Amino acid sequence: MPTLRINTTALLHNLKALQAAAGDAQVIPVLKANAYGLGAVRVAALLAQAGVRLVAVSRLEEAEELAAARVPLEVLLMTPYHTESALQKIAALGLTAAIESVEQAQTLNALAQGSVKVHLKFDTGMGRFGFLPPQAKQAAEAVLALKNLRVTGVFSHLSNCFRPGEKSVLCQAEAFDGVVNTLRENGVEPGLTHLANTNGLLLYPGLRHNAVRSGSALLGRLAYADRWGFRPVCELQAEICGVRTLPAGHTIGYANTYITKQKTRVAVVPVGYADGIFTEKSRDTFRFFDLLRYLYHDALLLLKKPRLAGVLHGRRVPVVGRVGLTNLSLDVTNVDCAPGDTVSFYVNPLLVRETAARVYAEDA
Ligand SMILES: *Cc1c(COP(=O)(O)O)cnc(C)c1O
Repeated sequence: MPTLRINTTALLHNLKALQAAAGDAQVIPVLKANAYGLGAVRVAALLAQAGVRLVAVSRLEEAEELAAARVPLEVLLMTPYHTESALQKIAALGLTAAIESVEQAQTLNALAQGSVKVHLKFDTGMGRFGFLPPQAKQAAEAVLALKNLRVTGVFSHLSNCFRPGEKSVLCQAEAFDGVVNTLRENGVEPGLTHLANTNGLLLYPGLRHNAVRSGSALLGRLAYADRWGFRPVCELQAEICGVRTLPAGHTIGYANTYITKQKTRVAVVPVGYADGIFTEKSRDTFRFFDLLRYLYHDALLLLKKPRLAGVLHGRRVPVVGRVGLTNLSLDVTNVDCAPGDTVSFYVNPLLVRETAARVYAEDA
């Protein structure tokens, strides 16, 4: 069975690198989607040990999982919930709730036995959650009247923060600044003010406020040049199940996309896309401009000829033929190996199925 190996030394290194990039701002690690596949409970426990006090998740079930594990952390539930049953749980578990409407705030206030911490959420462009900026005064007046709610933060989320110098990011930042000012003017001390995610923090140092929310940087996977020294945190490992030698002119894998040019030694590894390896999110925008962009990127691939690969005894070994549901093949003509030897693959842990055991270890 493949195993996802998580290097806890690298993970804590990435937390430090984030804190260094954030300067005086507090880093709120985001542990949604099972901490991006790393395992939320274990990661939360590690972060708590490292001095983190507040983390954020997206779904109520994620917060419930952390609460059940009794991880000593404050948990901000970034998604605003509205139903009485959800709000009841939020209050009972002592979560920090995201508030996006007056009615929702009133319901939570009525259900709460004691004081509930809340972060007011504002929609400055994402279009999913939050008061609209012109509602800031109304939001301030409402929460001031609700004695069970204690505002400890105000936040918003960037919708288009993938490269530096994006105008819409600066517009969102300006709208957010306006919201924070309006709240103050109307008697609400905003507490933690946070707008930036990982890209916002690293690409727009001006957006920091006094807190930032960061998830993906903990994995050490950035989509741009890394000036901050993040480290890769995990790899998927599996044992070679068979080694065979094929003659020249032999096909490998489905659809005969690969034909050996010469006598080739092939290692078969029981890892495939059933484990989530080498699968990516499919395309979901179809504007003319996006299609052009895809075409351009696909044309670049022609020039770059990327090849999937694993690492075996410290050497890069290319995948040959198509990756199957449960198996793939590696060209190991130049590497001594035998069944039982371990091959590693750099993967996005988010894509690795929960069926792969997560194993945590410090730097060897
Ligand atoms: C996922 C998420 C983040 C963290 O984003 P990264 O790019 O992974 O740092 C921050 N805020 C919200 C609201 C999110 O959903």
